[in-house]
Amino acid sequence: MKRIFVVATLVFSLVVSLVHFQTAVQANGFVDVPDRAAKEVNYLAERKVANGYSSSIFGSTRTVTRAEAAAFIGRALQLNGTQRNTRFRDVGSGHFASGYIQSAVERGILSGYGGGYFRPNQAVTRGEMAVMISKAFGYSYGGSLSGAARALLSRGIANGLEDGTFGASQRVIRVDFAVVLARAMNPAFRSGYTVDPRLSNQVVIIDPGHGGSDPGASGLGLNEKDVVLDTGLRLNELLKQTPLTVHMTRTNDTLPSLADRVNFAKNRGGNVFVSIHANALNGSATGTETYYYSEANTNPHVADSRLLAEKIQRRLVMAWHLRDRGVKQTSKLYVLKNNSMPAALAELGFIDHPEDNQKLRSDYWRNAAAKAIYYGIIDYYNEKGYDVDALYDIAR
Ligand SMILES: [Zn+2]
Repeated sequence: MKRIFVVATLVFSLVVSLVHFQTAVQANGFVDVPDRAAKEVNYLAERKVANGYSSSIFGSTRTVTRAEAAAFIGRALQLNGTQRNTRFRDVGSGHFASGYIQSAVERGILSGYGGGYFRPNQAVTRGEMAVMISKAFGYSYGGSLSGAARALLSRGIANGLEDGTFGASQRVIRVDFAVVLARAMNPAFRSGYTVDPRLSNQVVIIDPGHGGSDPGASGLGLNEKDVVLDTGLRLNELLKQTPLTVHMTRTNDTLPSLADRVNFAKNRGGNVFVSIHANALNGSATGTETYYYSEANTNPHVADSRLLAEKIQRRLVMAWHLRDRGVKQTSKLYVLKNNSMPAALAELGFIDHPEDNQKLRSDYWRNAAAKAIYYGIIDYYNEKGYDVDALYDIAR
């Protein structure tokens, strides 16, 4: 029974990823979304980045207001959307997009007009959209509408109009804004983008250490179990945007046993296993280190485990600028030793060291760590001969 279940699960996830990445699907029941935009609208709707006017009407041909654009971009970037006061006299705290408008303005993605006006109901032109997207996703565009248009065209994010121009002064309609936003968020939707088909068969297991009654290491009021879960969840969000399948050994404050974690990884058909931890010693030790199992007795994937550990360690040190304690061998760590796939265990830093602790407790640095581990995994696949070029854009 169990084997049948596992096979069924694998087939199911394969079908889901094929549907997700390779075929056009009806956009969440919207009857007014053209086939050419179905995948992108679906992607945004699933992530609650773009909603329809009703369950069946997306409003494809309606123009996009500046307030709607702020909400789309704000949700895409997961900005703070809590409705609140803004610096604009025409956007009150009760406005549906007030939080996103304020957040986007604070980040320099959007700006207002003279006299303290934002003009939330003004329609957005295609040129303005190009500038907003360039700013939101960090593309250099030289400060001009034409530069922003080029930034999108050259990445396969926007297409020109049939007359060969970009149509910078034309109003953008919702379905076109949705396509551009989805392509900026996920390179898999860009024209000319090809996914290495073998990546769809690869399963990555994320293992945040400890949990539940086991806090792991602690220091300065911070518990390892919370830091590594949050970092793991962020890593999960990044990997979910790729064709890779990703599973976590825990997504809550629970404590799977070490054997549970390894069995989970094996049952899910894992190809790569990454455990996330934080160190503690005596308050003065500092730095980042990554482990792999170095004896082939139990887990035979020694060379690939070492490669994975090296890639993750390199990226973590680049991102966090803590002392590079290096890639280390172990003959003990259970989740590495008893696994049946390339496996690495990263110790982000020392939770009882003031500098390391500052990073471990910060949203910004946890995000940086998640991105670093993400890049490390992609570097690993790159080294193994997969075409992963487009996946570097996702964590940008
Ligand atoms: Zn630990």
